[in-house]
Amino acid sequence: TISKTKLPFQAEVAQLLHLVTHSLYSNKEIFLRELISNASDACDKLRFEAIDQPALFEDQPQLEVRVAFDAEAKTLTITDSGIGLSQQEAIDNLGTIAKSGTKEFMSKLSGDQKADAQLIGQFGVGFYSGFIVADKITVESRRAGLPAEEGVRWVSSGAGDFEVDSIARPQRGTSVTLHLRDDAEEYLNAWKLKSIIAKYSDHISLPILMEKEEWKEGEDNKGGAMVKTGEWEPVNKASALWSRPKKDISDEQYVDFYKNISHDFEAPLAWSHNRVEGNTEYTQLLYIPAKAPMDLWNRDKGAGVKLYVKRVFIMDDAEALLPSYLRFVKGVIDSADLPLNVSRELLQESRDVKAIREGSTKRVLGMLEDLAKKQKTASESGEGKIDVGSGESVPAPEPTEGVTDVVDKKADHGTPAAEAAADYADESGKYARFYAEFGAVLKEGLGEDFGNRERIAKLLRFASSTSDAVSVSFADYKSRMKEGQDAIYYITADTLAAARNSPQLEIFKKKGIEVLLMTDRVDEWALNYLTEFDGTPLQSVAKGAVDLGKLQDEAEKKAAEEAAESFKPLLERLKEALKDKAEDVRVTTRLVDSPACLVVQDGGMSTQLARMLKQAGQ
Ligand code: ADP
Ligand code: MG
Repeated sequence: TISKTKLPFQAEVAQLLHLVTHSLYSNKEIFLRELISNASDACDKLRFEAIDQPALFEDQPQLEVRVAFDAEAKTLTITDSGIGLSQQEAIDNLGTIAKSGTKEFMSKLSGDQKADAQLIGQFGVGFYSGFIVADKITVESRRAGLPAEEGVRWVSSGAGDFEVDSIARPQRGTSVTLHLRDDAEEYLNAWKLKSIIAKYSDHISLPILMEKEEWKEGEDNKGGAMVKTGEWEPVNKASALWSRPKKDISDEQYVDFYKNISHDFEAPLAWSHNRVEGNTEYTQLLYIPAKAPMDLWNRDKGAGVKLYVKRVFIMDDAEALLPSYLRFVKGVIDSADLPLNVSRELLQESRDVKAIREGSTKRVLGMLEDLAKKQKTASESGEGKIDVGSGESVPAPEPTEGVTDVVDKKADHGTPAAEAAADYADESGKYARFYAEFGAVLKEGLGEDFGNRERIAKLLRFASSTSDAVSVSFADYKSRMKEGQDAIYYITADTLAAARNSPQLEIFKKKGIEVLLMTDRVDEWALNYLTEFDGTPLQSVAKGAVDLGKLQDEAEKKAAEEAAESFKPLLERLKEALKDKAEDVRVTTRLVDSPACLVVQDGGMSTQLARMLKQAGQ
């Protein structure tokens, strides 16, 4: 054992502490998260070491964390029954910085106090964050398995040095006592402490206990105060659902948890829960909601995925964990590798995060593929047709088509959403439901995630000149292509009705060639990134001179050439008359009934995109 010794902090610690004690913090309260997380880590370590040495549990098998305060002494104490610290460990672990995350943080310090204070607020600095609120910290500990006399007391006021001494400590584990600064007395309040614990540590799987308080009237009914009852009660839910084995979790529990984290009233369409092992270890529990939130179109929003590190909450909407086109996904990712004090900036750069992002993206695409496989097509199920829009449905200009559209929508809404959602077993309609809500967002992936472009393209569905339902995949289309057809034809328009009645479709209708109808605002942009599917080029019927190639017979080609010849003088006059308005005027074979139509030059901006940009004021 050691006798009372004064030791200097490692230079980096001293620097860090100076910063901690000399800066103002926007979120002081993170100190509690850090200390509870250390307590929880210490319990995890004991549990792990005790696998081989059950004697380490001594006569106290209970792993728990207790948070207590003494309003008179102005102290706050966090006690755990974890592995504890030996005297040497206290010197090593509480006198130096071993964490790579903190070192990285230190390297980013600029020396500008204000900027650095902001940085530190984002990071949290582990054990030393106690000095944000305390002007003195006392740690008393004994390592599990060591005799009571080999306990240690570590004391520091967060200046250049700390003091260690041996103490007798019968009880295993660690107590960290914070002697609070005058401006931190708000933490001497049970309600305040509970609310911080609920915010950051609810999912710690150990019980976090606080002593129950009761209101007691003063003498002669004068005044009164909360007094401790000596009874301890858990203040966290200890419900880290994702850290439990799948087989122990019911569908209902999964759904409840989803509702809890998403604030959604409806059940999700699907979820996926996995523990990923290997170079990067993490647990993912990801959900596909049944309904789009109001702010789905805000691309800055970030995915609804919460990041935890070893069951400690780190941040909401961690956008680095999933690409933006999967921002509808909700859930939890719990990393075993990231430092607790990771910031959004660091997340962007971390290799672990990159691996998590790739793994999670694949997982979500896999879930969607699964739903798509189980989706019955409209003809199989005889279900109504679905109208996909981006929320703002434009009234259809053509009365006949307009009516069809309205009927389609009614048919769709005819299935009560809640009922369908409650029935997780029935997978047959889920993909259509997903697609109606989120299909347009998914398309952004074509431009955003080149590595998965093929998989995304396979997940896309469209209406077509022969199908009202938004259910035609590129593969379906290809399987129905006419002999001699060598392109996938599509048209973009504001509404289904406008697309279907476009004069540019006439020749395709006549020849019985299917054309995909694209009416989402993102289609035009997204298709810039998809020039072919499975070896077959995509061709807009509204661009350039549509070459029907082998689909056109000799007589038709000849007739077209002759017409071009005989109409030459007329074309010249039209070109002259439309000089400022049209680049070119030519004879076409694409029209059957209409006398003329506008087309865009190959490689030119489509009329729809041009309109979109104009609307956006460009
Ligand atoms: P980190 O938890 O990321 O390692 P901290 O600064 O929070 O960094 O803690 C530093 C070290 O101090 C820990 O790694 C651990 O060895 C030790 N430590 C802190 N709190 C406790 C505790 N309650 N029980 C046992 N060891 C602890
Ligand atoms: Mg820690």
